[in-house]
Amino acid sequence: MFTRVKGFRDIFGDEIPYWHKVEKSFHKVFKRYEYTEFKLPVLEKVEVFQRGIGDTTDIVEKEMFVFDDKGGDRLALRPEGTASIVRGYIENRLYTGNAIAKYYYYGPMFRRERPQKGRFRQFYQVGIEAFGSSAPSLDAEVIKTMQDIFDECGILDIVSLNINSIGCPKCRPLYKEKLISYLTDKKDQLCDDCLNRLNRNPLRVLDCKIDRCKSATRNAPKMVDHLCDECNSHFEKTKQFLTFFNIKFNIDPFMVRGLDYYVKTAFEFVTDRLGASSAVGGGGRYDGLIKTLGGPDIPGIGYAIGVDRLVTLMMEKNIPVNRTKKVFVVFFEETFKEGFEMIELLRKNDISTGFDYEFGNFKNQFKKADRNSADWVIIIGTSEKERGIVQLKDMKTGVQFEVKKEEIIEKLTL
Ligand code: AMP
Repeated sequence: MFTRVKGFRDIFGDEIPYWHKVEKSFHKVFKRYEYTEFKLPVLEKVEVFQRGIGDTTDIVEKEMFVFDDKGGDRLALRPEGTASIVRGYIENRLYTGNAIAKYYYYGPMFRRERPQKGRFRQFYQVGIEAFGSSAPSLDAEVIKTMQDIFDECGILDIVSLNINSIGCPKCRPLYKEKLISYLTDKKDQLCDDCLNRLNRNPLRVLDCKIDRCKSATRNAPKMVDHLCDECNSHFEKTKQFLTFFNIKFNIDPFMVRGLDYYVKTAFEFVTDRLGASSAVGGGGRYDGLIKTLGGPDIPGIGYAIGVDRLVTLMMEKNIPVNRTKKVFVVFFEETFKEGFEMIELLRKNDISTGFDYEFGNFKNQFKKADRNSADWVIIIGTSEKERGIVQLKDMKTGVQFEVKKEEIIEKLTL
């Protein structure tokens, strides 16, 4: 027997209606805010991510699925959407004209992380990117779209929003120096990974989940206390606009996000229901990224929601989802014509309809209807055929009654 590759999973059955609810919700929400869909390739040249996400990030250093293509390119399964969409934005010259460009994407991402609850090697993200404005009201609106999705999906009460400002290339280097000097004093308390990060990517030490690193950084200097005037004013205004949008938030001065490209606003919706994998969605502003990837100097902001985690939360909360109601048509050789006409009529009305391909006897057909978890069974025997009616049985209550053929669709309260 073949088994799944480690960290990959099959998704089917009872989970599917939740995925559909999420998909319906985000299409609806993004339309409200003028985002259009961008379908991205799953493969990119590895440089897109190396340059876009940053060479010293965990994703690029350790987590990408990379292979050499026979054509000579080194390719990577996309670990995230932002670098890809920025590549697409530049390559398709979507920046011509001066409108703000707003896109959303949805699909599987691949990271070779250590699998655990809420963490897979193939997982799904839905995300947005807005290019063309550095205004803080856009930061707040972007966050609002994520809140709307969680609201539509019924989990807003079990997530909370953390925000931070992680400065810009003007103020961050000075802060980094201070942080490195603070952390160097605490060197003996840090884990091996953090020792490694200390000089290469010191901000990452701040969101290490290991207890002794957490206590070592408890009194570390905070970026929010070292922002330049521009970043400080941006942060203050963003908070103000969040309040206008009725969004509650906490300031988490040690949230840094794993990717190098962020500047100013960083945010995450977190929950305590997913063990160590607490973030359901996160993002931030990345004003230098388009230029870094070879495009014009256009600011951008975006986020990604982890759909697997969102679905887990919805299932834990037992959020109501539409289960497809099903009809099973029981009929016989003498009533083939009427039976198939009925099936066609139901399906034309978008009703999920099945029948017994083997045409067993009455009892066997009913058994199959049961196994098929049919909500309704329609029976068409010779006497029903002669009288122009059908028998309709509600499988939950067991009640059966006669219905005129023409009235069947309105009688099926699905
Ligand atoms: P990131 O792109 O790392 O900011 O992740 C955005 C969101 O994607 C996170 O908040 C998670 O919900 C989700 N996510 C990231 N990595 C994984 C993973 N390995 N498995 C499942 N979900 C993930």
